[in-house]
Amino acid sequence: MAIALMHLDVGTLSVVTVFVTALLGALLVFAGVQNRNIRAPMWWGGAQIVSAIGLGLAASSGALAPFVSTDIANALVLLGYGLTWAGARVFDGRPVLRPVIVFAPVVWLFACHIPAFESDANLRVVVVSTMTAMLAAATAEEFWRGRDEPLLSRWPTVIVLLAYAAVLLARIPATFFSPTLDDGSLLSGLSFALIAFGTLLFTVLMAFLLLNMTKERTELQHKINAMVDPLSGVANRRAFLDGARRLLAQQAIDGEPLAMMLFDLDRFKDINDRMGHAVGDRVLQTFAASSTLTLGADILFGRIGGEEFAALFPVGDLGEAYAVADRVRRNFAAAAQRFVNGDLEPTVSVGVTVAVNPPAEAARNTNDGSKDAMTSMDLLLEVADRALYRAKANGRNRVEATAPLDEIVTPFAAAPSIVPLIKAERVPFVRARGWRRRASY
Ligand code: GH3
Ligand code: MG
Ligand code: MG
Repeated sequence: MAIALMHLDVGTLSVVTVFVTALLGALLVFAGVQNRNIRAPMWWGGAQIVSAIGLGLAASSGALAPFVSTDIANALVLLGYGLTWAGARVFDGRPVLRPVIVFAPVVWLFACHIPAFESDANLRVVVVSTMTAMLAAATAEEFWRGRDEPLLSRWPTVIVLLAYAAVLLARIPATFFSPTLDDGSLLSGLSFALIAFGTLLFTVLMAFLLLNMTKERTELQHKINAMVDPLSGVANRRAFLDGARRLLAQQAIDGEPLAMMLFDLDRFKDINDRMGHAVGDRVLQTFAASSTLTLGADILFGRIGGEEFAALFPVGDLGEAYAVADRVRRNFAAAAQRFVNGDLEPTVSVGVTVAVNPPAEAARNTNDGSKDAMTSMDLLLEVADRALYRAKANGRNRVEATAPLDEIVTPFAAAPSIVPLIKAERVPFVRARGWRRRASY
């Protein structure tokens, strides 16, 4: 491999590298211009274009003064790595530290004025390689720090950056063992062939990975937007029902009891009428935040209607489920104290039931005596809603629990009418306020 690299035409390779780098840089800038939410590709594209200019100057060493083809050229390439590092910070929403971006080029240009450094080509290679490797490793670290965001391309990007840093460091011994370093040019023999080839591969791979990461970020945002209620920051109805289906399917396998809770804010129409919709919205956010805090962020909890929320999670028994629901109720009443207005106090009523290994399909009697197939999910929601209806009828701001599903299927089926769980009305007040991980207010 090393021998093969030495036989590459270094001149051709560098011209190809210059144009490929510039072209990919333009592509990245284009991607950045197109996407107003993710600006990092512009930084990366700018970085590649700056590097391309530096590489172009270095490749024209015969025609240019050494000050341009060596000093300026390397400063530009180092600046390119600094900009790539800054782009990684921009990508993950961290501030750009300008002094760090220009640190390596400034050190380099300064050192070039020292005669002993100027005349020692080996030393110059060592310094450029070390600084580039450090910037590549620092960029890898930035991407690593954002690893909580599940983007598939993050990992190969970190690996490619670290591998590149390793190749650059390998350049240091290669410089000393390389057969020629003749005319004071930085570029010679195996060392240069290695680095030119590595840079070309690295440039192409990085552009591909960075573009992919940007695309994955956009897709993830779309997915989150489709699953999260913009007002409250919790799962929306669809996400809740999807999650519930998964939990029920899991329960059919492991038989673990699941608590289903339905929450409906009390006299919410009055809250809106007396305090205004904006306050109503803040009460909803307060409920979502306080419940998430009480239940824990890992629990399936969502807004399934205007002022209706639901939770589904594994639980020991109905008594435990009741206790949890009552804690949610009390914590909300405490959190919403600042919205109390005369006799109007934001509170919540809760209907609770526990699913004990429900059948996948159950039959219920309809009013006209015919049978109607229901899924275990429908049953569970209806049973919890009956409990919620009782909580409302018994004075609100309270929890009512209904015995486990398999025990109440028959009496429940005979019930003459059931309060519909989710009103058909669309949620009229959900305002698109952008995605929030947690409700903030
Ligand atoms: P109850 O105690 O029986 O539950 O009475 P309620 O007034 O809460 O019941 P109802 O379901 O009649 O009223 C719910 C109200 O919630 C109606 C609607 O105007 C309001 N609402 C629904 N979505 C939103 C929202 O996103 N923001 C605000 N501010 N209000 C909403
Ligand atoms: Mg309601
Ligand atoms: Mg209500």
